[in-house]
Amino acid sequence: MSKISKMPVVFFAHGSPTNVLEDNVATRSWQRIAESIERPKAILCVSAHWCTQGAAVTAMEQPRTIHDFGRSLPAALFDCQYAAPGSPALAERVVELLKPVAVQMDQSWGLDHGTWAVFSKAWPDANIPIVQLSIDMSQPEQWHYDIGKRLKPLRDEGILIAGSGDIVHNLGVMDWNEASLPYDWATRFNDYIKKCIVEDRPQGVLDYQSCGTDATQSVPTKDHFLPLLYVLGAREDTDTVRFVSDFIQYKSLSMTSIVLGG
Ligand code: ZN
Repeated sequence: MSKISKMPVVFFAHGSPTNVLEDNVATRSWQRIAESIERPKAILCVSAHWCTQGAAVTAMEQPRTIHDFGRSLPAALFDCQYAAPGSPALAERVVELLKPVAVQMDQSWGLDHGTWAVFSKAWPDANIPIVQLSIDMSQPEQWHYDIGKRLKPLRDEGILIAGSGDIVHNLGVMDWNEASLPYDWATRFNDYIKKCIVEDRPQGVLDYQSCGTDATQSVPTKDHFLPLLYVLGAREDTDTVRFVSDFIQYKSLSMTSIVLGG
């Protein structure tokens, strides 16, 4: 049996669901990430769009494609299907690794657009089994980081640990004009988080609220930021850092994706 090398961990900046209808800088960055790493045996994804009270993993054989966005978006988005299989075995493994934290084996969720929009571009053949781990919104930042740490053994089992969100995500003030320059606070906050990652100072990321109004404007709700903490938790000292695509779209959505290791 050939030895499995340690998998990287990846934070995918997913931005607007409409990216999936385009061939643009963001979608090509997801493709580049997939092409640059070993093909995973399976993927465990923490998506900004599955927020729960208590933790859960998708445990079904065939997760459905969830169109979890507003009806104002193009009809073509609602026709998208991503038929990647699930992996009850990986779900069981996650439950084991996270004990004594209780993780529910979920049969009702599926793949939300934080997952399928990115992976349908990255791995369009839809042959890699995918399990989602929900974000327990009742828990503080440190808890999410610690869960990432406990998932580390998966990296030696051919499993890609992925987070899907955005470092900066403020829909209330976004501007669909592609030519608009980002808000200063968005650039400053994105740069601050990147610096912490380059310098391997996770505490600086966990303490992001010390950035004051830059933080409250960039992270008005935590859902898109928290997936990053799982990715950083699974980081090893020896991991290299790679930013793949690094810009702010529509003034207030950070499209900075991050590959650690691999
Ligand atoms: Zn989103």
